[in-house]
Amino acid sequence: MSDSELIVALLVEDSAADARLVERQLESEEHVRFRVEWVETLAAALDRLAAGGVDVVLLDLNLPDSQGLESFERLYRAARAVPIVVMTGRRDARLALKAVGDGAQDYLVKQDVEPGLLVRSIRYAIERKQTELRLRESEERYSLAVSGANDGIWDWDVQRDRIYFSPRWKELLGYDAEEVGDRTEEWFGRVHPDDLDGLRKAISAHLSGQTAHLESEHRILHRNGTYRWMLTRGLAVVGESGAAQRIAGSLTDIHKRKMTEEELLHDAMHDPLTDLPNWALFMDRLNIAIAQSQRTTRQSFAVLFLDLDRFKNVNDSLGHAVGDKLLIAISRRLRALLRPGDTVARVGGDEFAVLVNGVDHPEDATRIAERIHEELARSFLVPGHEVFTSASIGIALSSAGYERAEDALRDADTAMYRAKSRGKAQHAIFDEAMHRRAVELLRLETDLRKALERQEFRLHYQPIVSLVTGRLEGFEALVRWQHPSRNLIYPDEFISVAEDTGLIVPIGWFVLAEACRQMARWRQAHAAAAGLAISVNLSGRQFVHSELIDRVEAALGENGLDPSKLRLEITESMIMADVGSAVHKLEHLKQIGVQLHIDDFGTGYSSLSYLSRLPTNTIKIDRSFVRHMEDENGRSHIVETIVALGRNLGMEVAAEGLETADQLAHLRRLRCQYGQGFYFSRPLDGEAAAALAASSPRW
Ligand code: C2E
Ligand code: CA
Ligand code: CA
Repeated sequence: MSDSELIVALLVEDSAADARLVERQLESEEHVRFRVEWVETLAAALDRLAAGGVDVVLLDLNLPDSQGLESFERLYRAARAVPIVVMTGRRDARLALKAVGDGAQDYLVKQDVEPGLLVRSIRYAIERKQTELRLRESEERYSLAVSGANDGIWDWDVQRDRIYFSPRWKELLGYDAEEVGDRTEEWFGRVHPDDLDGLRKAISAHLSGQTAHLESEHRILHRNGTYRWMLTRGLAVVGESGAAQRIAGSLTDIHKRKMTEEELLHDAMHDPLTDLPNWALFMDRLNIAIAQSQRTTRQSFAVLFLDLDRFKNVNDSLGHAVGDKLLIAISRRLRALLRPGDTVARVGGDEFAVLVNGVDHPEDATRIAERIHEELARSFLVPGHEVFTSASIGIALSSAGYERAEDALRDADTAMYRAKSRGKAQHAIFDEAMHRRAVELLRLETDLRKALERQEFRLHYQPIVSLVTGRLEGFEALVRWQHPSRNLIYPDEFISVAEDTGLIVPIGWFVLAEACRQMARWRQAHAAAAGLAISVNLSGRQFVHSELIDRVEAALGENGLDPSKLRLEITESMIMADVGSAVHKLEHLKQIGVQLHIDDFGTGYSSLSYLSRLPTNTIKIDRSFVRHMEDENGRSHIVETIVALGRNLGMEVAAEGLETADQLAHLRRLRCQYGQGFYFSRPLDGEAAAALAASSPRW
């Protein structure tokens, strides 16, 4: 309301004298311009109001056509947006007061009116009315937009610091209407201590105009003594002065939603079987630990990666139900072992990860690993069984300066493998050497791929000699890698990586084809090579590969090689992995006519009953037995036993790793048919092997 604004006042007054008095007072006002429109009856007043443009009504309650409060009520109903100031005589003061209670903005006793007072009253009346309208508007917006039928309503008179709580509001907290007063304490006093600060901040942010509306989720104490999640929404009503006068809104019970949210969140972050944190949550916590380790405070941590030893045995022999029970029991022990701030998570079937904070020395981490070993060493009682278990533990320490959770976990995992390779219930701390080894392996893998493309693989050939005739029988093809910048690399350095990465398959097909090609060339060149056989090592991956038969047939066909001159060396473990399909494969290969030799015999574990049914021709005694043949401790008997076994099964026996004349003499006495070893010759390159064959050697 600026000073230049014109205020239209409708004066409803049947006394001309009183009317003139008011007119004069208003028109003499210097700062506000008034236009007074005077009517004498209620009917005329209603007509004028209907036409609009009235800013304020000055009403005498006693009119020719209407008396007392009724005059006010009828006018009020007709124009709710227009403020009404009631003018009365002293006798009617009580009535006027009642009119204010019903919605009049103010009342004035005519006899006391003086110019300033009247103007002030009118101004305030207009201002208050506007505020009231805005509030009603907002409340209407509220009931439309937010507050469902189930919501409670509150209305806080900020100036007086009183709150109106609707019956429903109280009911949401378990109270009857009379049981809750109108003090703010009734609300804030029940808000959960952890949420109170947030609520107050949200309110003051809104009151200061930082937020368009108030919205806060907090827990409120229910009468039954539990906290329930509630959503409070509200809108402030700001007066002319710019200060909030009221703030009103709704209260919604969101407890159920919150609980399901929390449940969903919990489920997403936990393993359903053990209820331990899962991989995702573990990585989350680990990332936090890493962030803390990077701060100046350098909060240290350790990651322990646990893999149960032979858990599969438990599952296979006692069943999955028992396996599950064991996992649950293990989780409990692990959890009990650790401090509240530590995290133990289940990150795989039988894998757990532990994050321990404040581990400053490797010994601290080792001590934890030892405690875990001790805990797991005590037997577990799962229904019907007493089960023993152990774990291999790998440890990674924050002192390595990790920046990513994946790296810390990977190193702990690498260390775990190291621990596992040392036997059961071991632990190992990840160190630089392991790191170098891991990097090396990675480089090796890349190099192997390139080696395949660049055809850097070569074959060497080691003679196999008939111990009966002393003549050359054939050769075993052994792969080498002619690395462009290094010496010749032997299979021990790359075969296991090639196995792990699957590269052994293409490498193996190359060996098979190349060995057959070489054989064909020799046979063309030297008559002496005509009867020689070639032995080729197969990896497990090749053995189960769908292309095996095709590859073998192609290698033979393309080189015009007699199938009986090709010997495929397979190991017991390749057969035992899946006896059924192995026997099937072997039968098929036998049909083709190739010979089948069991390599490294005695190192794996095989079943004699299976062995007797295998369509294999020859057993190769592992070189570790041959080496110890002359020892006093009975290992010589193993060679003896294997030779006898072969004879009983109708198979021939070859001894590999034959290095000395004594060994040769001993094997001949045992009537072992074939020998291979440094005593005869080291593996030779193609040329040297051909020259040897051409010389028809005799041992
Ligand atoms: P293996 O099949 O048992 O091959 C015999 C290994 O014993 C060869 O090692 C050979 O050099 C070595 N050897 C021969 N005579 C003696 C001896 O008198 N004393 C000693 N101490 N050792 C002897 P190499 O060539 O290093 O091969 C190692 C292993 O690598 C092989 O053992 C075989 O398992 C694997 N391998 C070699 N070539 C291939 C291949 O083409 N494919 C697959 N899948 N594996 C291969
Ligand atoms: Ca072999
Ligand atoms: Ca062997």
